[in-house]
Amino acid sequence: MSIYNNYINGEWVPSETGQLFESKNPANVNEVVGVVQKSNENDVNKAFESAKEAQKKWARLSGPARGELLLKASNILESRLDDIALTMTKEMGKTLPEAKGETARGVAILRYYAGEGSRSIGDNIPSSDADALMITTRVPLGVVGVITPWNFPVAIPIWKMAPALVYGNTVVLKPAIETAVTAAKVVECFHEAGFPPGVINLITGSGAVIGDAMVENEHINAVTFTGSNTVGKHIGRKAFDRGVKYQLEMGGKNPVIVADDADLKLAVEATISGGLRSTGQKCTATSRVIVHEAVYSQFKELLLEEVAKITVGDGAESNIWMGPCANESQLNTVLSYIEIGKEEGATLLYGGNKVEKGGYFVEPTVFEGVLPTMRIAREEIFGPVLALMKVSSMEEAITLANDSDFGLSASIFTTNIQKMLEFIREMDAGLIRINSESAGVELQAPFGGMKQSSSHSREQGRAAIEFFTSIKTVFVK
Ligand code: NAD
Repeated sequence: MSIYNNYINGEWVPSETGQLFESKNPANVNEVVGVVQKSNENDVNKAFESAKEAQKKWARLSGPARGELLLKASNILESRLDDIALTMTKEMGKTLPEAKGETARGVAILRYYAGEGSRSIGDNIPSSDADALMITTRVPLGVVGVITPWNFPVAIPIWKMAPALVYGNTVVLKPAIETAVTAAKVVECFHEAGFPPGVINLITGSGAVIGDAMVENEHINAVTFTGSNTVGKHIGRKAFDRGVKYQLEMGGKNPVIVADDADLKLAVEATISGGLRSTGQKCTATSRVIVHEAVYSQFKELLLEEVAKITVGDGAESNIWMGPCANESQLNTVLSYIEIGKEEGATLLYGGNKVEKGGYFVEPTVFEGVLPTMRIAREEIFGPVLALMKVSSMEEAITLANDSDFGLSASIFTTNIQKMLEFIREMDAGLIRINSESAGVELQAPFGGMKQSSSHSREQGRAAIEFFTSIKTVFVK
């Protein structure tokens, strides 16, 4: 059984607690994937001291040189894609093709930000004084705390760390403990690429213990977080009080509208893929399906036909379409929302049961007759549960779609350009998807939400520069 240490100041070191956590396979709860450290506040402090110590020198390295190291890390990650993807599947259950796709995306993100090291980081602004030079330049923030969830254990840490690093920050990564082995394998790629000691640090342990210690650390300058709303708001309040810059990417309750003129086959495929891939454990997963009454029966029939074909089981097996929930508490949450849905009076059309296969499996589940006031229409379930809602007009559909505390992603299926334009204009969501599933956005495009889904900054692509740098306005006479 492999034991994975923390990574501090360029070395793999055990936690001073001597306590360990066994990362287990949610598809086979007796299989231990690896053992990681349960760190404490002192480990956190050491990681931040090392990041602080390394930062000035790292920022003095040229942008292209920092980019070159990211490129090296991308090549190493690519050479280990199969192993890292399998580790991901074993740690959190997504199917192997999805895990491979995510790891490949990690490679592509590193390459994108490798190039970013050679791009412009400021503006030349005309001054009213013709003899003066007025420019902006962007400077790193310093030490960035990176706190990530288990659902995208390669892509999310990389899309936060890569821009942080290329713009001259150093990082302390704290992944979700459920996927800490995957995170350690990713950090090994950075280590072997030759990043200087202290530039990247990894500590694993309980979020409540070391997450809090991170945000309270004297050397932290910024924190970037992806995870639940409860934890995000807690981090945001603490960071705000201490003058620490913060970025929060949180939950969603993403709607799909199926208009009366939609391509129904496409809408069904996208609803299933967007809602049930990764066992519904994506922040951008489709959960509310708002269908025009003129096509409701036909859509429902097609949807149920396709849902019935879904195979549930160990995502490492080639014939499996949907893996387990990532952990026991996630499974219990999903099952309890299914009970809530029934108690609230929604009609269970399909699924709703645990699947007894030695892991945290649940059937894909479809409700109809879901009212906007029901908890299954309002709260993020983070599982394979679709809520069908019938409407009689486009206006009603958009009102319903916007009736949410969240505003991450939203899709519409229509062949009518006016409806598309209305949806772009009226829908309150950071990601607007037309004739495409709610989940997913390309890595070079801005990613983030509105309302309670986000602290409103954007990740990915060029947009990441806004969070990971600060602007200096320079006037030279
Ligand atoms: P979570 O909030 O429980 O945990 C996220 C991270 O925060 C983990 O690393 C955890 O250890 C840490 N943490 C927990 N308590 C902490 C504390 N008190 N202080 C600091 N850190 C703490 O979320 P999760 O269950 O790992 O992930 C699922 C959630 O993530 C869902 O709500 C989902 O919508 C969200 N998510 C959002 C996005 C997005 O981009 N909007 C992407 C993926 C997942």
